[in-house]
Order: sequence, then structure tokens, then C-alpha cells
Amino acid sequence: MSLLDLASYASAWRGYEYYKAKKVTLFKKIDSNHFEGFVAGTNTKPYHVLIDLEHPRSSKCDCPHADGKRIICKHKVALYFQAFPKEAEQYYREVIEAEEEAEREQERLENALIEYVSKMKKADLQQALLQMLFEGPEWQYDRFIRDHLGEY
Ligand SMILES: [Zn+2]
Repeated sequence: MSLLDLASYASAWRGYEYYKAKKVTLFKKIDSNHFEGFVAGTNTKPYHVLIDLEHPRSSKCDCPHADGKRIICKHKVALYFQAFPKEAEQYYREVIEAEEEAEREQERLENALIEYVSKMKKADLQQALLQMLFEGPEWQYDRFIRDHLGEY
């Protein structure tokens, strides 16, 4: 598994943001599998990061989140993107595509629901509405009464 695949969704995204915000300083390639650098954190002192592509879990960062642990933190991800800018752009495209796909899926579902409801029989609609009012959240019940029966 690559370093990026081992990072949590949040660490990958924050790492991308750090990379784009140019928080990686003193970047150095040691060999084709090892990269070293400093990544500015929220504190004044930048974190020292060392990534090992062959053994991503052995990568090091001295931030409180990852120090002494095998966690892939945002600083390691930021350094990884600094080493592989094309991977960063690929990662960004994939995130955007996934968001767009989720939106399209949401739209498909909405359209299917609209079509289904438009074909329901009146008695079934009344049944479904009452069930939602009695079993749904209280604000929905109160709002329906206010909007349709006036102030009680
Ligand atoms: Zn870190």
C-alpha cells in the first residue's frame, strides 16, 4: 500500500492543503524511496518529516499526533505531495470526481423519489404523510400543524 492509501481521509486532505499552502520547507530527496523535509505546523516550530516509500509505516514525523507512532499524518502526506506533484493533482481530481459523483447520485435518488411519489395513490399518500408526522421529528409535526391548522 502506498503512503497515501494508508492515510485517513482527513490526513490526506489536510496534507494536500498543507502542500498547496507551501508549508513544506527544506525539502530534500535522499534517494528514490526516501524524502526529508520540514513542514510548518500550527505552532511556530516546523515538524521534521522523513518519509520511506518502501515502508510507509516507518516514515517519521515529530508532530504530537504521529511522533513515535505508525500513523500517516498530514505532514507526511504534505511531504509526499511535494515529492510527487503529479500525485497531488491526481489526488485532487479524484476527490473532486468523488464529490461530483456523490452529487449526481443524490440527484438520481431525488428524481426517483419524485417520480415514485407522483405515482402514489391518494390513500397511500395520506397514510405516508400521517406516519411521517407522527413518527418524524417534533418540529416537523409542529410546523405542519402551524402551516395547515393555524395556531393551536
Ligand atoms: Zn506529523
